[in-house]
Amino acid sequence: MKIYEWLSKGPEDTSSLAQKIAEKLAAKDVLLLEGDLGAGKTTFTKGIALGLGIQKNVSSPTFTIIKEYHGKIPLYHMDVYRLQDSSEDLGFDEYFEGDGVTIVEWAHLIEDQLPKEYLAVSIFRIGDMERKFEFKPVGERYELLCEELFS
Ligand code: ADP
Ligand code: MG
Repeated sequence: MKIYEWLSKGPEDTSSLAQKIAEKLAAKDVLLLEGDLGAGKTTFTKGIALGLGIQKNVSSPTFTIIKEYHGKIPLYHMDVYRLQDSSEDLGFDEYFEGDGVTIVEWAHLIEDQLPKEYLAVSIFRIGDMERKFEFKPVGERYELLCEELFS
């Protein structure tokens, strides 16, 4: 499986990459975000929201697991970190197969319920402002997307 690496020099860098990605996203696209607290998952998601034309401020869905935003197409932002029982079926499929883009933070916690194809994004903190992004496309749709974006 091909992995695409990208280095970010600061939050603005992360945001502009995310906006660039958002321009290529369509309904039913799924992005899985991994990274420690403070890595930049929410910063990245805010950039995606900007790119989708969402005006409302995006914050981590702390108490709600899933938040919905409405732009050119909807954004479903999930943070499953606080799910107690990860096998509990909260109807994630309706989002994955719905009319918008879904972003899942801490997706490995709901491994059994993930769609077959997705773009996995891992963020590593390598300095105060530096972050290494690893994009792992699973499925042809996401392989093409990464080819367009990174080569
Ligand atoms: P997470 O959602 O992964 O816990 P956040 O996006 O909430 O992380 O927080 C990331 C923090 O790191 C923010 O305070 C942000 O300003 C800072 N930061 C510094 N450099 C970067 C970078 N290159 N990309 C993203 N965030 C960065
Ligand atoms: Mg967060």
